[in-house]
Amino acid sequence: MNIRHLARTNVLALEPYQSARRLGGKGDIWLNANEYPLPPSYALRGDKLNRYPSCQPPGVINGYAAYAGVRPEQVLVCRGADEGIELVIRTFCEPGTDAILFCPPTYGMYSVSAETFGITCRTVRTRQNWQLNLPEIRAQLDGVKLIYICSPNNPTGNIIDPDAIRELLEMIHGRALLVVDEAYIDFYLQASLTGWLAEYSHLVILRTLSKAFALAGLRCGFVLANEEVVQLLLKVITPYPLALPVADIAEQALSVDGLRQTRARVAETNANRESLVRALAACLCVREVYPSASNYLLVWFDPAYQVFKTLCNRGIILRDQSNQPGLADCLRITIGTQEECQDVVAVLKALNPFSSLSKES
Ligand SMILES: *Cc1c(COP(=O)(O)O)cnc(C)c1O
Repeated sequence: MNIRHLARTNVLALEPYQSARRLGGKGDIWLNANEYPLPPSYALRGDKLNRYPSCQPPGVINGYAAYAGVRPEQVLVCRGADEGIELVIRTFCEPGTDAILFCPPTYGMYSVSAETFGITCRTVRTRQNWQLNLPEIRAQLDGVKLIYICSPNNPTGNIIDPDAIRELLEMIHGRALLVVDEAYIDFYLQASLTGWLAEYSHLVILRTLSKAFALAGLRCGFVLANEEVVQLLLKVITPYPLALPVADIAEQALSVDGLRQTRARVAETNANRESLVRALAACLCVREVYPSASNYLLVWFDPAYQVFKTLCNRGIILRDQSNQPGLADCLRITIGTQEECQDVVAVLKALNPFSSLSKES
Protein backbone atom coordinates (compact mmCIF):
# COMPACT_ATOMS: atom_id res chain seq x y z
CA MET A 1 0.00 0.00 0.00
CA ASN A 2 1.28 3.41 -0.90
CA ILE A 3 0.79 5.71 2.09
CA ARG A 4 2.76 8.53 0.50
CA HIS A 5 -0.18 9.78 -1.55
CA LEU A 6 -2.02 10.49 1.70
CA ALA A 7 0.67 12.81 3.04
CA ARG A 8 0.45 16.59 2.67
CA THR A 9 2.05 17.91 -0.51
CA ASN A 10 4.40 20.26 1.38
CA VAL A 11 5.55 17.41 3.61
CA LEU A 12 6.37 15.27 0.58
CA ALA A 13 8.38 18.15 -0.84
CA LEU A 14 10.12 18.85 2.47
CA GLU A 15 13.87 18.53 2.82
CA PRO A 16 14.30 17.51 6.49
CA TYR A 17 16.76 19.42 8.64
CA GLN A 18 20.16 17.74 8.38
CA SER A 19 20.97 17.65 12.06
CA ALA A 20 24.43 16.55 13.07
CA ARG A 21 22.85 13.48 14.67
CA ARG A 22 20.99 12.59 11.50
CA LEU A 23 24.11 12.99 9.36
CA GLY A 24 25.85 10.59 11.72
CA GLY A 25 29.43 9.55 11.06
CA LYS A 26 32.04 7.60 12.95
CA GLY A 27 34.42 9.31 15.31
CA ASP A 28 35.65 9.92 18.82
CA ILE A 29 35.76 13.69 18.70
CA TRP A 30 32.42 15.29 17.93
CA LEU A 31 32.82 18.92 16.97
CA ASN A 32 29.83 19.18 14.65
CA ALA A 33 26.78 20.05 16.77
CA ASN A 34 27.92 22.92 19.03
CA GLU A 35 27.45 20.77 22.10
CA TYR A 36 29.52 21.12 25.24
CA PRO A 37 32.12 18.32 25.16
CA LEU A 38 31.50 16.96 28.66
CA PRO A 39 28.29 15.97 30.46
CA PRO A 40 27.27 17.98 33.52
CA SER A 41 26.34 15.87 36.55
CA TYR A 42 22.82 16.40 37.75
CA ALA A 43 20.77 13.83 39.64
CA LEU A 44 17.01 13.48 39.40
CA ARG A 45 15.22 14.49 42.58
CA GLY A 46 11.51 14.03 41.94
CA ASP A 47 9.63 10.73 42.02
CA LYS A 48 6.02 11.72 41.24
CA LEU A 49 6.03 10.29 37.76
CA ASN A 50 2.41 9.15 38.13
CA ARG A 51 1.36 12.83 37.86
CA TYR A 52 1.28 15.06 34.80
CA PRO A 53 3.82 17.85 35.01
CA SER A 54 3.00 21.54 35.20
CA CYS A 55 2.78 23.12 31.72
CA GLN A 56 5.06 25.97 32.81
CA PRO A 57 6.88 24.81 35.97
CA PRO A 58 7.24 27.90 38.21
CA GLY A 59 10.71 26.88 39.41
CA VAL A 60 12.00 26.83 35.85
CA ILE A 61 10.17 29.99 34.77
CA ASN A 62 11.30 32.00 37.81
CA GLY A 63 14.85 30.66 37.55
CA TYR A 64 15.19 31.61 33.90
CA ALA A 65 13.52 35.00 34.40
CA ALA A 66 16.07 35.80 37.10
CA TYR A 67 18.95 34.63 34.89
CA ALA A 68 17.75 36.62 31.86
CA GLY A 69 16.76 39.71 33.83
CA VAL A 70 13.13 39.70 32.72
CA ARG A 71 9.80 39.24 34.50
CA PRO A 72 8.40 35.67 34.84
CA GLU A 73 5.38 36.75 32.74
CA GLN A 74 7.81 37.35 29.89
CA VAL A 75 9.10 33.75 29.89
CA LEU A 76 7.73 30.66 28.17
CA VAL A 77 9.55 27.35 28.53
CA CYS A 78 9.41 24.76 25.74
CA ARG A 79 11.14 21.70 24.29
CA GLY A 80 14.25 23.46 23.08
CA ALA A 81 14.57 26.66 21.09
CA ASP A 82 13.54 24.60 18.05
CA GLU A 83 10.06 24.25 19.49
CA GLY A 84 10.09 28.00 20.13
CA ILE A 85 10.82 28.65 16.45
CA GLU A 86 7.86 26.50 15.51
CA LEU A 87 5.47 27.86 18.16
CA VAL A 88 5.89 31.43 16.97
CA ILE A 89 5.14 30.36 13.41
CA ARG A 90 2.07 28.35 14.44
CA THR A 91 0.79 31.23 16.55
CA PHE A 92 1.29 34.10 14.12
CA CYS A 93 1.39 32.80 10.54
CA GLU A 94 -1.60 31.98 8.37
CA PRO A 95 -0.77 29.04 6.08
CA GLY A 96 -0.92 29.90 2.39
CA THR A 97 -0.96 33.64 3.13
CA ASP A 98 1.84 34.73 5.43
CA ALA A 99 5.58 34.52 4.97
CA ILE A 100 8.60 34.45 7.25
CA LEU A 101 11.86 36.19 6.32
CA PHE A 102 15.40 35.25 7.30
CA CYS A 103 18.91 36.12 6.16
CA PRO A 104 21.20 33.33 4.93
CA PRO A 105 23.73 32.06 5.68
CA THR A 106 22.02 31.18 8.94
CA TYR A 107 20.39 28.42 11.00
CA GLY A 108 18.45 25.84 8.97
CA MET A 109 15.38 25.27 11.14
CA TYR A 110 13.53 28.51 10.27
CA SER A 111 12.80 27.23 6.76
CA VAL A 112 12.05 23.65 7.84
CA SER A 113 9.53 24.82 10.46
CA ALA A 114 7.87 27.26 8.06
CA GLU A 115 7.60 24.75 5.23
CA THR A 116 6.07 22.11 7.50
CA PHE A 117 3.18 24.49 8.18
CA GLY A 118 2.74 25.76 4.63
CA ILE A 119 4.29 29.16 5.32
CA THR A 120 6.31 30.83 2.56
CA CYS A 121 10.01 31.51 3.19
CA ARG A 122 11.49 34.76 1.96
CA THR A 123 15.28 35.08 2.13
CA VAL A 124 17.46 38.16 1.99
CA ARG A 125 21.17 37.36 1.85
CA THR A 126 23.29 39.14 4.42
CA ARG A 127 25.91 41.58 3.21
CA GLN A 128 29.52 40.47 2.69
CA ASN A 129 30.28 41.01 6.40
CA TRP A 130 27.23 38.89 7.41
CA GLN A 131 25.31 41.93 8.61
CA LEU A 132 21.72 42.76 7.68
CA ASN A 133 20.87 44.19 4.29
CA LEU A 134 18.17 46.56 5.53
CA PRO A 135 17.15 48.16 2.20
CA GLU A 136 16.65 44.73 0.67
CA ILE A 137 14.69 43.51 3.71
CA ARG A 138 12.48 46.60 3.42
CA ALA A 139 11.81 45.75 -0.23
CA GLN A 140 10.81 42.17 0.67
CA LEU A 141 8.43 42.84 3.57
CA ASP A 142 5.16 42.31 1.72
CA GLY A 143 3.20 39.53 3.47
CA VAL A 144 5.97 38.91 6.00
CA LYS A 145 4.69 38.22 9.50
CA LEU A 146 7.90 37.07 11.17
CA ILE A 147 11.56 37.90 10.71
CA TYR A 148 14.14 35.53 12.18
CA ILE A 149 17.55 36.98 13.07
CA CYS A 150 20.19 34.78 14.68
CA SER A 151 22.73 36.58 16.93
CA PRO A 152 25.41 35.33 17.39
CA ASN A 153 24.66 33.92 13.97
CA ASN A 154 24.99 30.20 13.37
CA PRO A 155 27.26 29.28 11.54
CA THR A 156 29.17 32.55 11.03
CA GLY A 157 29.61 33.40 14.73
CA ASN A 158 29.10 37.16 14.44
CA ILE A 159 26.84 39.37 16.54
CA ILE A 160 24.28 41.23 14.42
CA ASP A 161 24.73 44.99 14.70
CA PRO A 162 22.21 46.14 17.36
CA ASP A 163 21.68 49.48 15.59
CA ALA A 164 20.51 47.59 12.50
CA ILE A 165 18.20 45.44 14.63
CA ARG A 166 16.72 48.57 16.17
CA GLU A 167 16.17 50.07 12.74
CA LEU A 168 14.50 46.82 11.65
CA LEU A 169 12.22 46.87 14.71
CA GLU A 170 11.14 50.43 13.83
CA MET A 171 10.67 49.42 10.18
CA ILE A 172 8.32 46.50 10.89
CA HIS A 173 6.44 48.04 13.80
CA GLY A 174 2.72 47.16 13.61
CA ARG A 175 3.28 44.77 10.70
CA ALA A 176 5.45 41.89 11.85
CA LEU A 177 7.34 40.40 14.78
CA LEU A 178 11.08 40.18 15.03
CA VAL A 179 12.38 36.90 16.48
CA VAL A 180 15.99 37.13 17.65
CA ASP A 181 17.51 33.68 18.12
CA GLU A 182 19.95 34.03 21.01
CA ALA A 183 20.86 30.32 21.29
CA TYR A 184 24.54 31.28 21.78
CA ILE A 185 24.17 34.60 23.58
CA ASP A 186 25.35 33.09 26.89
CA PHE A 187 28.87 33.15 25.43
CA TYR A 188 28.56 36.94 24.97
CA LEU A 189 25.77 38.01 27.31
CA GLN A 190 26.47 41.73 27.02
CA ALA A 191 25.00 41.64 23.50
CA SER A 192 21.62 40.25 24.57
CA LEU A 193 18.56 42.24 23.55
CA THR A 194 16.42 41.22 26.56
CA GLY A 195 16.68 44.81 27.83
CA TRP A 196 14.71 45.92 24.74
CA LEU A 197 11.58 43.91 25.53
CA ALA A 198 10.15 46.79 27.59
CA GLU A 199 10.44 49.07 24.58
CA TYR A 200 9.26 46.75 21.77
CA SER A 201 6.09 44.68 22.08
CA HIS A 202 6.90 42.94 18.76
CA LEU A 203 10.33 41.63 19.85
CA VAL A 204 10.65 37.91 20.61
CA ILE A 205 13.86 36.30 21.90
CA LEU A 206 14.74 32.59 21.77
CA ARG A 207 17.06 30.99 24.32
CA THR A 208 18.16 27.44 25.12
CA LEU A 209 19.87 25.25 27.72
CA SER A 210 21.45 23.22 24.89
CA LYS A 211 24.63 25.21 24.35
CA ALA A 212 26.28 27.10 27.24
CA PHE A 213 24.31 25.11 29.83
CA ALA A 214 25.67 21.84 28.33
CA LEU A 215 22.19 20.28 28.25
CA ALA A 216 21.44 19.56 24.58
CA GLY A 217 20.04 16.16 25.55
CA LEU A 218 17.57 17.72 27.98
CA ARG A 219 15.54 19.52 25.27
CA CYS A 220 14.75 22.71 27.13
CA GLY A 221 14.48 26.18 25.65
CA PHE A 222 12.76 29.49 26.25
CA VAL A 223 10.83 32.19 24.47
CA LEU A 224 11.24 35.64 26.02
CA ALA A 225 8.62 38.16 24.94
CA ASN A 226 6.02 40.50 26.30
CA GLU A 227 3.13 39.03 28.22
CA GLU A 228 0.66 39.41 25.34
CA VAL A 229 2.87 37.33 23.04
CA VAL A 230 3.54 34.73 25.75
CA GLN A 231 -0.21 34.37 26.41
CA LEU A 232 -0.85 33.73 22.70
CA LEU A 233 1.94 31.12 22.53
CA LEU A 234 0.47 29.39 25.58
CA LYS A 235 -2.76 28.83 23.62
CA VAL A 236 -0.82 26.86 21.02
CA ILE A 237 1.76 24.91 23.05
CA THR A 238 0.98 21.30 24.04
CA PRO A 239 -0.44 20.89 27.58
CA TYR A 240 2.67 19.15 28.98
CA PRO A 241 5.70 20.25 26.97
CA LEU A 242 8.27 19.47 29.70
CA ALA A 243 8.66 16.01 31.19
CA LEU A 244 9.06 16.09 34.98
CA PRO A 245 12.75 15.03 34.87
CA VAL A 246 13.42 17.84 32.37
CA ALA A 247 11.90 20.46 34.65
CA ASP A 248 13.79 18.99 37.60
CA ILE A 249 17.18 19.25 35.93
CA ALA A 250 16.44 22.62 34.31
CA GLU A 251 15.66 24.03 37.73
CA GLN A 252 18.98 22.73 39.08
CA ALA A 253 20.83 24.20 36.12
CA LEU A 254 19.30 27.58 36.95
CA SER A 255 20.16 27.44 40.66
CA VAL A 256 22.99 29.54 42.05
CA ASP A 257 25.35 26.58 41.79
CA GLY A 258 24.12 25.61 38.30
CA LEU A 259 24.66 29.16 37.04
CA ARG A 260 28.13 29.22 38.56
CA GLN A 261 28.98 26.07 36.59
CA THR A 262 27.64 27.60 33.40
CA ARG A 263 29.66 30.78 33.89
CA ALA A 264 32.78 28.66 34.38
CA ARG A 265 32.03 26.66 31.21
CA VAL A 266 31.51 29.86 29.23
CA ALA A 267 34.82 31.33 30.42
CA GLU A 268 36.63 28.08 29.62
CA THR A 269 35.00 27.72 26.19
CA ASN A 270 35.75 31.32 25.25
CA ALA A 271 39.39 30.86 26.31
CA ASN A 272 39.70 27.60 24.33
CA ARG A 273 38.17 29.33 21.32
CA GLU A 274 40.70 32.15 21.38
CA SER A 275 43.64 29.70 21.63
CA LEU A 276 42.17 27.73 18.75
CA VAL A 277 41.86 30.92 16.68
CA ARG A 278 45.57 31.62 17.19
CA ALA A 279 46.63 28.04 16.47
CA LEU A 280 44.51 27.78 13.32
CA ALA A 281 45.85 31.05 11.98
CA ALA A 282 49.28 29.37 11.85
CA CYS A 283 48.08 26.45 9.71
CA LEU A 284 48.85 26.56 5.99
CA CYS A 285 45.51 25.04 4.99
CA VAL A 286 43.60 27.84 6.76
CA ARG A 287 42.70 30.89 4.69
CA GLU A 288 40.69 32.71 7.33
CA VAL A 289 39.31 32.20 10.81
CA TYR A 290 36.27 34.39 11.34
CA PRO A 291 35.75 36.17 14.66
CA SER A 292 33.20 34.38 16.84
CA ALA A 293 31.15 35.30 19.90
CA SER A 294 30.01 31.72 20.40
CA ASN A 295 31.17 28.14 21.06
CA TYR A 296 32.19 27.46 17.47
CA LEU A 297 34.42 28.89 14.77
CA LEU A 298 33.74 29.25 11.08
CA VAL A 299 36.93 28.64 9.13
CA TRP A 300 37.69 29.14 5.44
CA PHE A 301 39.98 26.31 4.33
CA ASP A 302 42.11 25.58 1.34
CA PRO A 303 40.28 23.35 0.41
CA ALA A 304 37.52 22.38 2.85
CA TYR A 305 36.67 18.90 1.60
CA GLN A 306 40.23 17.72 2.08
CA VAL A 307 40.37 19.05 5.63
CA PHE A 308 36.96 17.56 6.39
CA LYS A 309 37.96 14.16 5.03
CA THR A 310 41.37 14.07 6.68
CA LEU A 311 39.93 14.95 10.09
CA CYS A 312 37.07 12.52 9.56
CA ASN A 313 39.55 9.70 8.92
CA ARG A 314 41.13 10.55 12.28
CA GLY A 315 37.74 10.36 14.00
CA ILE A 316 37.26 14.14 14.28
CA ILE A 317 33.88 15.23 12.97
CA LEU A 318 33.26 18.84 11.92
CA ARG A 319 30.25 20.44 10.29
CA ASP A 320 30.51 21.16 6.57
CA GLN A 321 29.03 24.57 5.71
CA SER A 322 30.18 24.78 2.11
CA ASN A 323 26.63 24.34 0.77
CA GLN A 324 25.43 27.52 2.47
CA PRO A 325 25.31 30.63 0.29
CA GLY A 326 28.63 32.48 0.41
CA LEU A 327 30.35 29.82 2.52
CA ALA A 328 32.19 27.78 -0.11
CA ASP A 329 35.14 25.97 1.50
CA CYS A 330 33.96 26.80 5.00
CA LEU A 331 33.74 24.35 7.90
CA ARG A 332 32.33 24.97 11.35
CA ILE A 333 34.31 23.72 14.33
CA THR A 334 32.65 23.36 17.73
CA ILE A 335 34.97 24.33 20.57
CA GLY A 336 35.73 21.08 22.35
CA THR A 337 37.99 20.42 25.30
CA GLN A 338 41.50 21.86 25.16
CA GLU A 339 42.81 18.40 24.17
CA GLU A 340 40.26 18.08 21.36
CA CYS A 341 41.22 21.51 20.01
CA GLN A 342 44.89 20.47 20.12
CA ASP A 343 44.07 17.25 18.23
CA VAL A 344 42.43 19.28 15.46
CA VAL A 345 45.41 21.58 15.18
CA ALA A 346 47.88 18.68 15.18
CA VAL A 347 46.16 17.10 12.16
CA LEU A 348 45.82 20.40 10.30
CA LYS A 349 49.45 21.40 10.90
CA ALA A 350 50.48 18.34 8.89
CA LEU A 351 48.28 19.31 5.94
CA ASN A 352 49.73 21.23 3.04
CA PRO A 353 47.38 23.15 0.78
CA PHE A 354 47.29 22.33 -2.95
CA SER A 355 50.24 19.93 -2.86
CA SER A 356 48.42 17.03 -1.25
CA LEU A 357 45.28 17.96 -3.15
CA SER A 358 46.93 17.71 -6.54
CA LYS A 359 48.50 14.39 -5.56
CA GLU A 360 45.09 12.98 -4.72
CA SER A 361 43.08 14.18 -7.72
C1 LIG B 1 21.14 24.81 18.56
C2 LIG B 1 20.29 25.90 18.02
C3 LIG B 1 18.92 26.00 18.28
C4 LIG B 1 18.16 24.86 18.90
O1 LIG B 1 18.32 24.76 20.20
P1 LIG B 1 17.53 23.61 21.00
O2 LIG B 1 17.18 24.34 22.24
O3 LIG B 1 18.49 22.51 21.18
O4 LIG B 1 16.32 23.23 20.20
C5 LIG B 1 18.23 27.10 17.86
N1 LIG B 1 18.83 28.06 17.16
C6 LIG B 1 20.13 28.01 16.86
C7 LIG B 1 20.74 29.10 16.08
C8 LIG B 1 20.89 26.92 17.26
O5 LIG B 1 22.18 26.82 16.88
